[in-house]
Amino acid sequence: MESSSAHPENSSRPAYRRGWVDDAVAAIEADQCRTADTHLIRLIVPALSGINIYLKDESTHPTGSLKHRLARSLFLYALCNGHIREGTPVVEASSGSTAVSEAYFAEMIGVPFYAVMPRTTSAEKIAAIAHYGGKCHLIDDGRALYAEAGALASRLGGHYMDQFTFAERATDWRGNNNIAESIFTQLKGEPRPLPDWIVMGAGTGGTSATIGRYLRYRQFPTRLCVADVEHSAFFDCFRDQDCSQTCERPSLIEGVGRPRCEPSFVPGVVDRMMKIPDAATIAAMNVLSRRLRRAVGGSTGTNFLALCRLASEMRLAGRTGSLVTLICDSGERYRQTYYEPQWLAARGLNPEPHETALMSFLATGEPLDLTVEDTINPRMQGAA
Ligand SMILES: *Cc1c(COP(=O)(O)O)cnc(C)c1O
Repeated sequence: MESSSAHPENSSRPAYRRGWVDDAVAAIEADQCRTADTHLIRLIVPALSGINIYLKDESTHPTGSLKHRLARSLFLYALCNGHIREGTPVVEASSGSTAVSEAYFAEMIGVPFYAVMPRTTSAEKIAAIAHYGGKCHLIDDGRALYAEAGALASRLGGHYMDQFTFAERATDWRGNNNIAESIFTQLKGEPRPLPDWIVMGAGTGGTSATIGRYLRYRQFPTRLCVADVEHSAFFDCFRDQDCSQTCERPSLIEGVGRPRCEPSFVPGVVDRMMKIPDAATIAAMNVLSRRLRRAVGGSTGTNFLALCRLASEMRLAGRTGSLVTLICDSGERYRQTYYEPQWLAARGLNPEPHETALMSFLATGEPLDLTVEDTINPRMQGAA
């Protein structure tokens, strides 16, 4: 970008570097101005009449996932806090999607970008980061991610973005068209505009934190269900009210499931959690992709399975209402993994029985026969 030339009054005072920061913030704001909001898709399921299902399609952001929102917020936060100046190298620890979106914004404002990622990150994401001029450092032990990223930032004299710490505070949770406000605005014309539940997975935990805080701030009756995956610390930490628990094996579902309870995960605003088996995640991803006639990512399968369990519960109780979840990214990024039978077989994942159960539920509305670990917020136990 052109640096201070847009503001000649600043370039006459070279001791002040605000000219560059102002231009960087303006470039990110202008990008948002050119960008449309994401769609809220209604999924038509005749067998579930009286229960409306909505999918907020975050795959349509310019960088392909909900991390576009987070990356924008993190860059604005770092610029407005004085952490990024002209030429500051920016470093991030990521399972991929955040790094793709951050590489996009780093290129936009003209700072070098380095992503520290697990070696298992999909080739598509690595290629996307390189496309935006970012550099990838791949490491073998996912648990060393944070330390490696911090160390690289200090070696480079750069700024470690640290999404896992800052996601919850970089986003304006009261509004400013955050994802929660956008969902409620888009539901205004619907027959049941206040959903019974919003369902979301947790990677940083930032999106669920924004949604949960917004529900309380606006005093909405909607509850928040966080869908966790196998090989992740979040569910156990929530159930036992003990955030020190960790998990040895890395999550197979990119974007969600973490080895530790990340600082950006805010358990106090979560009403309920489910822990979805990976094979069921893949099954739900396949079933939803066929219903939408396009491929969704793995974490969207996790979300959709939890949503279907809630819908099944509502049917059993004879209740009507609406349910919302997110399409976090597109399945195009996972053609060689979740959509590849050999990849699944090598990991012992057989989605078939879960697919049968889910398809039968969506076709008939009969109870969904699929048990998963499920717990309400222990602090709310006994509350009406
Ligand atoms: C990051 C991510 C999530 C989880 O969102 P958080 O706000 O980080 O908890 C879910 N799915 C995908 C694909 C992601 O990249």
